[in-house]
Amino acid sequence: MATISELSLSELRRDLHKYPEAGWKEFRTTSLIAEELDERGYTVHLGADAIDTDERLGVPNNDEIERARDRARDEGAPEPYLDQMSSVTGLIAEKTFGEKSGPVVGVRVDMDALEMTESSDAEHRPATDGFASCHPNEMHACGHDGHTTIGVGIARTLDVTDNFSGTIKLFFQPAEEGGRGGLPMSKTAHFTDIDHFIALHLGLGNETGTIIAGYERPLSNAKIDVEFHGESAHAGKAPNEGRNALQAATTAIQNLYAIPRHEDGATRINVGQVHSPNAQNVIADNAQMRVEVRGEAADLNEYMLDTANRVIEHAAGMHAVEYDTNLYGKTTTFEADTELVTVVADAAHSLGTVTNVVEREPIGASEDASYLIKRVQAEGGQATYIGVGASNPSGHHTSRFDIDEDALDIGVDVVIETLKQLSLTHSQQ
Ligand SMILES: [Zn+2]
Ligand SMILES: [Zn+2]
Repeated sequence: MATISELSLSELRRDLHKYPEAGWKEFRTTSLIAEELDERGYTVHLGADAIDTDERLGVPNNDEIERARDRARDEGAPEPYLDQMSSVTGLIAEKTFGEKSGPVVGVRVDMDALEMTESSDAEHRPATDGFASCHPNEMHACGHDGHTTIGVGIARTLDVTDNFSGTIKLFFQPAEEGGRGGLPMSKTAHFTDIDHFIALHLGLGNETGTIIAGYERPLSNAKIDVEFHGESAHAGKAPNEGRNALQAATTAIQNLYAIPRHEDGATRINVGQVHSPNAQNVIADNAQMRVEVRGEAADLNEYMLDTANRVIEHAAGMHAVEYDTNLYGKTTTFEADTELVTVVADAAHSLGTVTNVVEREPIGASEDASYLIKRVQAEGGQATYIGVGASNPSGHHTSRFDIDEDALDIGVDVVIETLKQLSLTHSQQ
């Protein structure tokens, strides 16, 4: 492949869909986008210039990262940008249009895929049209291929639009799934001067033509990986000599689900995986589990996390095993600014392709754009998280997930129209 600049938006989305990259492995995606934006005159900040690497969560081991880089190279990632990235994915691209005195607007799109296998079912369009994932156990099942495409579409449209005067900063964020990339991106100096900030998501149950101007009430979330270390022993001859890590894990699981609900609001807990590969006649010396907690407010999430940690500690103590826990990822809550929500809603109303504008809707999920939004607001800027309906035939994070590609242009147009209105208001102040 030459460059992605020759691809239409739907062709680009299909290309990204075919070569999905899970969190912190987005080398091909990042470098191809960087190449086009560089050619368009954007200043591009890559890897450690776009991410506070010390704050990264849930990073795969070095071998996995190296394999992902090699694969990206084999699949057409341009070498100069791979070099600039070193082992860290992520891109921030900025460009000023018209007057320098215009507003600084940030737009965040995420780039990562999920670790799951895509359907080859005859009714699944990516499979029948030949753009289903060619990577085993990686799939764009949340629409982030579409988000990345919308980011590129915004850059392309701004190059041929006269009505925006100001600076655009495009944040191409890695590792949103699991809540791992938002926090380290939010810690960079690129957030100190943003007047208005928009994050967006396709789908989420809404039909094409619907725009949510301000999602609200995200759940605060934390994911932990736990490992119990015991002592193996012969299960027949000397079970008393073992220290059973699997028992500790199962004791923990029962009691994690028994954490009392909190009077102040909604909480969640889930154990998604438990693993202890031992024979029937061996006392298990090792067990691992993957746990997440959520709360509708940050302190409720903290309550769940603190209590979960206490349960794990004492389950380990009960079975005389050691344990360690690692924070895999986390998100917090946010509130969209009404003034900006109104601008987005007005912008959406002005578009012929938008048939339904909803000012506020609960998102019901968790999002690590929350850290970016909070940083912008802490620095005095305004932010919102918008929804772009995309008539998904199957739910997010399912093997037959797909998006209606008409939503790509709508997503671009809503942001461009919002940018124009912000620039106009700015010049009148
Ligand atoms: Zn997702
Ligand atoms: Zn998503």
